[in-house]
Amino acid sequence: MVIDKIIGTAKKEGRPYLTELESKQILKEAGINTTEVKLARTKEEAISLSKEIGFPVVLKIVSPDVLHKSDAGGVKLSLKNEKDVGKAFDEIISSIKKHEPTANIQGVSVQHMARPGTEVIIGMSKDPQFGPVLMFGLGGILVEVLKDVSFRIVPLTRRDAREMIREIKGYPILEGYRGQDPANIEVLEETLLKVSDFVENRPEIKELDINPIFAYRDGALAVDARVILEP
Ligand code: ADP
Ligand code: MG
Repeated sequence: MVIDKIIGTAKKEGRPYLTELESKQILKEAGINTTEVKLARTKEEAISLSKEIGFPVVLKIVSPDVLHKSDAGGVKLSLKNEKDVGKAFDEIISSIKKHEPTANIQGVSVQHMARPGTEVIIGMSKDPQFGPVLMFGLGGILVEVLKDVSFRIVPLTRRDAREMIREIKGYPILEGYRGQDPANIEVLEETLLKVSDFVENRPEIKELDINPIFAYRDGALAVDARVILEP
C-alpha cells in the first residue's frame, strides 16, 4: 500500500515529518478528497506540470524541514501563466534559502488553485490518557485567535461527528451566514469519521493536521495536510 511505502521511506530516512505531498497521498488512500499534487525539481518541470494541471495553479515548497510554508515564503497562490510560475519558483527557493538555510529542499509542488470555500481544519493529536483525539474548527484567524474548536476521543461515533461540528461558535458560518455559501455538513461529518477510522488503524501516526479543508455546498477539499510519525 502507498501508506506503508511512504511511512517506510520516512522511517528509513529518520524523519518524523511527512511532506504535504506524502501526507496528501496518505489522506487520499484514507478516502479524503485532496488536491492532486505533483513534485517539480526544476523551474522547467514546474512550468510543464502547471500546463498539465491547468492554470491557475499554486506552488509550494516541499521540505520536511519547513512546517509553516507560508511563514517562510514557501506558498504562491493564483499563478495564472508560465511567467508567473517561473517567477514563483525562483522566489520560493530563494526565500527558503534565506529563512531556513539548512532545510533539505525536495523541490516545489504544483497543484490546482482550488475555488474559494469556507476554511475548516481537522486535527489529530494524542492525549497521554485518552489516546488519539480529533479536533474540528474553522480555519484561519478563528482557530488561531479565538480557539473556537471542538474535541472528541477516537473512535468517533456518528453522533460525535455531528456534535463536534455543531458545537463550535462559528457554526452559523457553516450554515451560510448572511448570504455566504453554506457548507455541506454531511460531507464534513463523513470526513471526520474517515479521519477517525484512519488514525485508529494507524498507530504509527502521532499527529495529523489538515489545515485547511475548503468546505463547499457540494463537498470538501483538503488543500494542505501534515502528518507527523511516532518516533
Ligand atoms: P502553510 O504551511 O503555511 O499552512 P498552506 O498549504 O496551508 O501552507 O497554504 C496557505 C494558505 O494558502 C491556505 O491556508 C489556503 O488558504 C491557501 N491555499 C493553499 N493551497 C491552496 C490551493 N490548492 N488552492 C487554493 N488555496 C490554497
Ligand atoms: Mg496550512
